[in-house]
Amino acid sequence: MTDTAIGNRGFRDGWKPEVIKKTGNLYDWPPHLLTMLKWLKRYLFSPQSLIHSGLALITWFFLTPDLARMQVFSWDWILLIYLRNVALLTLVVGTVHYRLYIRKVQGSEYQYDLNGLKTNHPRFLFRSQVKENMFWGLVSGCGIWTAYEAVTYWMFANGYVLFPVSWLESPVYIVILFIAIPHIRAHHFYFAHRLTHWKPLYDSAHYLHHKNLNTGPWSGFSMHPIEHLIYLSGVLIHWIIPSHPMHACYNLMTATIGPTWNHSGYEKIKVNQSVIKTEYFHYLHHRYYECNYGNPAVPWDRIFGTFHDGSEDAHQEMINRLKRMHG
Ligand SMILES: [Zn+2]
Ligand SMILES: [Zn+2]
Repeated sequence: MTDTAIGNRGFRDGWKPEVIKKTGNLYDWPPHLLTMLKWLKRYLFSPQSLIHSGLALITWFFLTPDLARMQVFSWDWILLIYLRNVALLTLVVGTVHYRLYIRKVQGSEYQYDLNGLKTNHPRFLFRSQVKENMFWGLVSGCGIWTAYEAVTYWMFANGYVLFPVSWLESPVYIVILFIAIPHIRAHHFYFAHRLTHWKPLYDSAHYLHHKNLNTGPWSGFSMHPIEHLIYLSGVLIHWIIPSHPMHACYNLMTATIGPTWNHSGYEKIKVNQSVIKTEYFHYLHHRYYECNYGNPAVPWDRIFGTFHDGSEDAHQEMINRLKRMHG
C-alpha cells in the first residue's frame, strides 16, 4: 500500500489547518482545571452548541405535541414530528450549504478540498452528491430520527422509561445532564462508528456515508438506514438513566444537526464578524478512512492508536499501522 493509494485520491488541496493537539483534553492525566473549563465553555457557548440547544428548547416547548397526545401511536402526530424534522434539517443544513456552495460567500477561504462537491458523477444517486446526500438525510435520516423520537416520547408518556424526572423535582440535575449530552454522545459516536467499520457493516451500510470522499454540509447526515439506526441509538440512554423528554429531544438534535459543521468542507465558517470553527479531525477520517473514528473530546482514538493529527508524521504512522495490519 502506498501513500498515494491511501491519501491522494484526486484531492485538490486547499486549506490545511494546524496540526490537531493531542493534549488539552478532558481525559488528560492529571486532570487540569483550565482544560475542563475550556471544554465546558465549548459545550455551553460554542455557536454549534447554542444552535443545537436553542433549537432543542424551541422544538420541545413549541414544536412537539403534548405528551398526553403521544400516549397512543397515531400517524397524525408522528407525521407532524417528521415534517418538523425535515424543516429543521433543511433550515440549518440548507442555509450552510446555500452560503458556502451556492452563494460562495467566503469563496475557497478555509476550504480543504478545492474540487468541491461532485456533480454529474455516476457514483451518486441522481448523479449528484448533494441530491443523494439530501435524499438519504431527509428520507431515511429524518424518518429514523422521527421513529426514535416518537417511541421515546411514547415511552415517557406511558411511564415506561425507568427514571423519568420532572423540572420541579430535579432542576439542577436536568440542567447538568443537558450540558453533558454532547459529551455522552461523543463516546457513543466512537463505538457506534467503529462498529460500522466492521467489514460486513461497512460493506452493507457505512460505505454509503464514505462515498463522500470530500464532504459538504448535506453529507453529514447522509447514511444508510442501518447506519441511521445505529448512529441515532444514543438516544436510548434516556430510557434507562434519569431523564426528561427534553433530553431526548436535545440528544437527537445534536446527532442530526451536529454533523453539518464537521462535514461542511471548511475549517471555519464565517458568519458576519464571527466564525464557526469546525473539526479538521473528521475530514481526515473521510480522506483516509482508517483513523479518527471518534472526535478529539474523547480518548478512544488516542488509546487505540488511530489518532491522526493531520501531520506528516501521523500520516506515516498510519501507513505503517495499515501495512502491519494488512501485510
Ligand atoms: Zn462523516
Ligand atoms: Zn467512517
